Amino acid sequence: MCNLACFFIETFGCQMNVYDSEKLAGILSELGYLPTNDVSQASIVVLNTCCIRNTAENKVLGRIGELKKLKDKNREILIILVGCMIQQEDKAKELLKKHSFIDIFIGTKNLNKLSAIIKNTLQDKKNEKHSEKIFVEPFSINNDYIEQITTPAYRTSFPNAWVNIISGCNNFCSYCIVPYVRGREKSIHPDIIYAEVVSLLEKGYKEITLLGQNVNSYGNDSLEGWNFNELLIRLAKINMKYRLRFMTSNPKDLTPEIISTVREYNNISKHIHLPLQSGSNRILQLMNRKYTYEDYYDLTKKIKKIPDVAITTDIMVGFPTETEEDFLDTLRAVEDIKFHNAFMFVYSARTGTQASKMPQLPNKIKKERITRLVGMQNGISQNISQKYIGKTYEVLIEDTIKGSNKVCGRTDNGRLVSMAGERELIGKFVNVNIITTKGSSLIGEIEND
Ligand code: SF4
Repeated sequence: MCNLACFFIETFGCQMNVYDSEKLAGILSELGYLPTNDVSQASIVVLNTCCIRNTAENKVLGRIGELKKLKDKNREILIILVGCMIQQEDKAKELLKKHSFIDIFIGTKNLNKLSAIIKNTLQDKKNEKHSEKIFVEPFSINNDYIEQITTPAYRTSFPNAWVNIISGCNNFCSYCIVPYVRGREKSIHPDIIYAEVVSLLEKGYKEITLLGQNVNSYGNDSLEGWNFNELLIRLAKINMKYRLRFMTSNPKDLTPEIISTVREYNNISKHIHLPLQSGSNRILQLMNRKYTYEDYYDLTKKIKKIPDVAITTDIMVGFPTETEEDFLDTLRAVEDIKFHNAFMFVYSARTGTQASKMPQLPNKIKKERITRLVGMQNGISQNISQKYIGKTYEVLIEDTIKGSNKVCGRTDNGRLVSMAGERELIGKFVNVNIITTKGSSLIGEIEND
């Protein structure tokens, strides 16, 4: 039970949204609110929306329906919708028309205005002047928004911390809505990133993930000539025990220099997440991905020279006009490369993108293809996991497993491991001997010194 005013934030979609939610939580904490996991106890409820895939959008719409019931019971609750979904003008107007009980709509790029908007809305409610007033601040894109939020993020994922290094994207893959809702690339100054990373490490964080839609193009927009490889080296040289990760890489921008840096520095995680999307060159071209399967395959050969490295990927099936032959190219790619893991999903049309105007495939074909792909990748992941049995890895303990006396953590290359252990181990590096697997997950035992 929250005796003080509390806030509840629900985050949909990608890791970038998790980062934005931590910033939002920082803003609400500064306004004097406490976090709660129980939505019914909250005075402020925030949905941080995502529009990258249909499934995320449908989840948001379902949750809005539930919040209506909450608002009917308690008119005092302030309901706020933020994020990519309302960064699209048509969508924002539609939501505004259909769900007038929502108090504030604010686009991703205007979060720096949220604190002032909340204060004004609460004041209006108090004065009973405009108690039903809705503020709409989406649509416009303000690329300086991250630097303008000076409130520290309210972090909830110790010992891991995400640090945004670049927002937006210039690539315009034909299926993707991100460049339209998050704007063009805008890199954060390396001194700001360095200071944030040092401050997090001093607070005891043990794993830092550098975030961006396309981290490898970090610095391309700067006049001072910074680049991602230099940033990586500067951060890797910080003389404290920690792991440095980054995501997401774009195959067209992952340079041999970056691969060498990952190999050279022990504290850079030996895990590269490299979205393939399709194994068919015809589909890659229609997707506007700007690499061929051969380019991608050569890149994986270079990455695999790093000892113990894990490569994971994203794969989309059912892109417009994808033929059985195109899909077989993707299956062959999966078979040849042998990814440790893959996020596999069905293409869904996003209004306003080029691909949404192309001839679409029937759902039946998409479902049948995703089932075949998932079956193949699961088998590969399980086979790779078997190779870990009997070996010892350094694992950073991240959390407890609910309803058990177990903890879980990750190896340097990002593999999830569970084992017997207590909460006190969270944030510690321990050596774990892998004894068995469950699906593709690893199960181990902590080795005593
Ligand atoms: S690289 Fe392509 S898929 Fe990734 S965010 Fe940019 S446009 Fe979207």
